[in-house]
Amino acid sequence: MSLFSKLLPAGLRGFVRRQALRGDTVHCPICDQGAIAYLPSGSPPRPHVLCPFCGSRERARMAWLFLKERKVLRAGLRVLHVAPERCLREKLTVLPGVKYTAGDKFTPGYDYPSGTIDLDITAMPFADGSFDLILCSHVLEHVPDDHTAMKELHRVLAPGGMAILMVPIAMDRAVTDEDPTVVDPQERIRRFGQFDHVRQYGRDYNDRLRAAGFTVVEDALAERLSPEQVFCYGLLRSEVVHAGLKSIKAGS
Ligand SMILES: [Zn+2]
Repeated sequence: MSLFSKLLPAGLRGFVRRQALRGDTVHCPICDQGAIAYLPSGSPPRPHVLCPFCGSRERARMAWLFLKERKVLRAGLRVLHVAPERCLREKLTVLPGVKYTAGDKFTPGYDYPSGTIDLDITAMPFADGSFDLILCSHVLEHVPDDHTAMKELHRVLAPGGMAILMVPIAMDRAVTDEDPTVVDPQERIRRFGQFDHVRQYGRDYNDRLRAAGFTVVEDALAERLSPEQVFCYGLLRSEVVHAGLKSIKAGS
């Protein structure tokens, strides 16, 4: 154990480390703080990923920029946050008058923030049109019956509402690759990119969202920013925002 670790309690050590990372090389759009760098993260670790202050990653920062640009965030918003990212939760729960619901599919051995409910997105206990904004990013690639999940997400979204439904997409693949008989973790990594993914989405992802009733917005947000902004906000050019809208005419 280093002298630094011996002398300072854990909470204070974290504080000192964060202070040492303050700077103006990068600027996190979620927590609005400047740092000398984003920290490496992942397995194997990738550089330039994690905000040292709010813990955000590239895709959360992109989703947040998209929501701000579209002026979605407002007082009194009814929000459903599936598999909630802590950094976004902290920003959403302080919106004035917000009605915030967080849900996750509980897995034994994992901890969930207090207030999070055990939620199966293929059968949700909410009335039609309950939410103005749904955040459900990097979730559908884990769900065996994603068509039912998409229809449920559309059902509980209010007419005029928006659902952020980002997933990993292989743009070189026209058609989604899925096979429910593939359960071996190594084979899933090889075919779908991660041990607990049940498919690899292709360019037909938007068609799948439309089949569930959504009007699709696809925004390669990083393509519209300068290289300096992409670096400063810590975004991935390969990441695209996919949002599903529910038209007002569609009713519930
Ligand atoms: Zn941050």
